[in-house]
Formats: sequence, C-alpha cells, structure tokens
Amino acid sequence: MKTNCDAGCQKSFEFEDFSIDKLGGGIEKVYFVCPHCDKEYVAFYTDDEIRKLQARIRRVQRRFSDPNDNHEDAAKKEADLKQQIKEKMGVLRVKIEGV
Ligand SMILES: [Zn+2]
Repeated sequence: MKTNCDAGCQKSFEFEDFSIDKLGGGIEKVYFVCPHCDKEYVAFYTDDEIRKLQARIRRVQRRFSDPNDNHEDAAKKEADLKQQIKEKMGVLRVKIEGV
C-alpha cells in the first residue's frame, strides 16, 4: 500500500503489511511505520471481542462465494458486523490513547 507520511517527514512510502504488537490484556495494536523517519501510524486496535467479530465477518463473507446462499442476508449481516467492529474499535482506541 502506498501512503504519505502526513504527520512526520511528508515523504511518501509503500508498506507491505501491517505490524502487530501485543499490548497485554488481549489487546493488539495494528500499525505501520514510516521507513524514512520512524513515525508510527496506528491503523486500529483489536481485543478478543473485536477479533471474534472479525472472524465472524470472514465467515459471512465466504457465503458470497456460494451461489446457493442468500447473498442479500449475508450482505445485511456483513454491514451489521462492520458497524459493530467500527464502533468497538473507536471505543477501544479512546480507551488506549485517551483522546
Ligand atoms: Zn516519515
């Protein structure tokens, strides 16, 4: 993925994949680092509950490859799970970063 170091050296860079740090208490930080100035960019945090929801959304998304499955129902469940994950990630981020 290509991105710009907006909060640091302003250079653009590409990164292959996110890094994951275990913060304790089952919380993981998903982030990447600018290779020019080491500025860290946190994508999101996860806890057990969020990772369970992420596993559920992957199961729901697999239903799209089954032509006999109800895709409308799967899309509804996917949207619902996405919303739940977004909200929980927002709450967790505030808890950790205190912003
Ligand atoms: Zn930078």
